Amino acid sequence: MAYPVTLISGDGTGPEIVAVTKKVLDATGVEFDWVEMEAGVDVMEKYGSPLPDHVVDSIRETKVALKGPITTPVGHGFRSVNVALRKMLNLYVCLRPCKYYPGVRSRYDNVDIIIVRENTEDLYAGVEFEQGKPETAQLIKFAEESGAGKIREDSGISLKPISVSGTRRIVQWAFDYARKYNRKKVTIVHKANIMKYSDGLWLKVGREVAEENGVKVVHKAEGWVVYEGGDVEFEDRIVDNMCMQLVQKPELYDILVLPNFYGDILSDLSAGLVGGLGVAPGANIGDEYAVFEATHGSAPKYKGMDKVNPSAMILSGMLMLRHLGETEAADRLENAVAAVIKEGKYTTYDMRENRDDPTAAKCSEYAAAIIREMEK
Ligand code: NAD
Repeated sequence: MAYPVTLISGDGTGPEIVAVTKKVLDATGVEFDWVEMEAGVDVMEKYGSPLPDHVVDSIRETKVALKGPITTPVGHGFRSVNVALRKMLNLYVCLRPCKYYPGVRSRYDNVDIIIVRENTEDLYAGVEFEQGKPETAQLIKFAEESGAGKIREDSGISLKPISVSGTRRIVQWAFDYARKYNRKKVTIVHKANIMKYSDGLWLKVGREVAEENGVKVVHKAEGWVVYEGGDVEFEDRIVDNMCMQLVQKPELYDILVLPNFYGDILSDLSAGLVGGLGVAPGANIGDEYAVFEATHGSAPKYKGMDKVNPSAMILSGMLMLRHLGETEAADRLENAVAAVIKEGKYTTYDMRENRDDPTAAKCSEYAAAIIREMEK
């Protein structure tokens, strides 16, 4: 039976990379019943919204979507379609695998990190108080009167909510993912030494979940905790140290589970370790629905040029195949992408030593090479 999948082309270079990804996925032999939907800046006029209701309804029906990047114009009162989708469908996991493929230009050659980023809370919850507003003054007064602390009167404020339930479900998701995909270790990232009531809660609940998953949490002394046992190893790292460790010895890390804000930054950092945005796939996942999309944006300056690298989008399709349980097809597709990158003959401009290399392949030529490789 064909898998129903909502296909959203996006805008900018989105339609080009989504079109070739669709061809590549069809060439795996897995059958899809594509439900094509429009969203983004280009459909604002037609539907009065960048994210028309029927698009969200379609994902509710198919449960799975493959989505091209969508532009968020700055300062037009235009809500980000990406953020809206995550909220409406409760996609609380942002999954970003960062894996090195030989042939990609990168400083590191032994990186295979899975970023599991919480997608709904933290500084990105959107609970903000504008400088100079009466409610902001009220909050400043409340903070001082309640003994929480003094805030300068001319401040703007963004709140950082982190909940027990939100932490519990994402850390458990990371353990479940580790078991499903035979990964060895989960590292929880935090700044609990400074933000005791948000990151402190995150670490405390993370440790509880680790214990429920068979890890022994041993408190050796104040601030010194060791983790023993468990079929999946567990450890914690303070976020600043984590950044340094990733740059110095990324090969030591496996799955990182992070609150929203650190997750955003470290997923770009980790994408940089394996060659940049052109090869970084992603997925937004909840208990009911999943939306697969590249980490990068719509790169509008290259629109219509058949130029940009579709690897991140194609590898997001590979993640979708795994999500659907089509492991053999996913492996075949991933191996074909790896082989074409390694050979280097049909790679796009961004994978070349010289970005103006006239022999660089077009987006569609690169995808055609992947299809030929799968058919070998
Ligand atoms: P971007 O990722 O679109 O592009 C930044 C630069 O990265 C490009 O100029 C290009 O040089 C390079 N790049 C990106 N993708 C590439 C690819 N596939 N192949 C080769 N090079 C590539 O980031 P931006 O310019 O900050 O954002 C453009 C728009 O996309 C913004 O409106 C932003 O809000 C939106 N955006 C959307 C998503 C999404 O839909 N999930 C994610 C990020 C940004």
